[in-house]
Amino acid sequence: MSEKEIYDIVIIGAGPGGMTAAVYGGRAELNTLLLEKNFHGGQIVYTNEIENYPAIHETNGIKLANDMLEHAKKYGAKVEYKGVDSIEVMEDGIKKLICGEEEILTRTVILAMGATSRKIGLDREEELTGRGVGYCAVCDGGFYKGKVVAVNGGGDTAVEDALYLSRIASKVYLIHRRDELRASKILQTRLFESGVEIVWNSTVKEIQGDDKVSAIVTVDKTDGFERKIDVDALFVAIGGIPTSDLVKGLVDQNEKGYIITNEDCETSVPGIFAIGDIRVKSLRQIITAAADGAIAVHAAEKYILENK
Ligand code: NAP
Repeated sequence: MSEKEIYDIVIIGAGPGGMTAAVYGGRAELNTLLLEKNFHGGQIVYTNEIENYPAIHETNGIKLANDMLEHAKKYGAKVEYKGVDSIEVMEDGIKKLICGEEEILTRTVILAMGATSRKIGLDREEELTGRGVGYCAVCDGGFYKGKVVAVNGGGDTAVEDALYLSRIASKVYLIHRRDELRASKILQTRLFESGVEIVWNSTVKEIQGDDKVSAIVTVDKTDGFERKIDVDALFVAIGGIPTSDLVKGLVDQNEKGYIITNEDCETSVPGIFAIGDIRVKSLRQIITAAADGAIAVHAAEKYILENK
């Protein structure tokens, strides 16, 4: 494709939402480009077991990501591994994407950049990352066979991580700031039967260790009690931060940086859509991101027809 040609849809981010949008874009015979800065799959590649995607009783994140990408390519979406530096809406409504030296023109953009792991914000957290502090139990859990580990968080990710680690480590602690978990009931039931020790009402106050993690200090917010727990690793799973800096000042976002859309995934800028974990929504799952992908392409197609 020459530089002067204009795509119908450029999707930024190849997570489940972006890859679904690519399937729908291709099947609608729209000239579709899927851009990914790192690796396709997004956060799902950190998930060991996926068992809530209809008809797929059990799979893992990497396999599902690969299957989705193949599906997208099958219907003609073009996939390129490159990051987008900026987006400009030109006078005629065409969007110009700058990717290094390259300019990409498109009628519509679907923002599907997802979210990244939130940090606790402790003094030694960054320094000890990769030396016991981790954000992906599935990636790094294998290093802690027979060791003692802690997970921080109370959502689906933290509970899944704790369950995964309980099959590898000799002892797992789950540190959660409240007295009830946010995770789904089925995961909670498994957790309560797993032998994982839950440290309720507590946050991690300190990470200790010279060149690698040797202990954490938790503080119980009900009575201020501080507890030192010897651990070889701390996995942080306290939610995500939307990867929305690229469109700061361009599309409306809430105070946490999540992009505000309507039901059709339309942002405040005509012809720019947002899908999946990056947008304001009540349920962030693979299936809801995928549904967004389908909805956004349908809305993009309508936009293209109306603005030809
Ligand atoms: P999440 O649902 O936002 O949960 C984050 C957890 O971390 C919450 O328990 C929260 O506590 C805690 N937390 C937040 N900030 C904290 C802080 N500064 N210090 C200590 N604790 C803090 O995030 P997630 O578990 O990563 O899940 C993200 C989305 O993906 C969710 O919609 C989830 O359902 C989905 N997901 C689904 C699956 C699945 O279906 N199998 C698997 C993984 C993720 P509070 O509860 O007190 O707010």
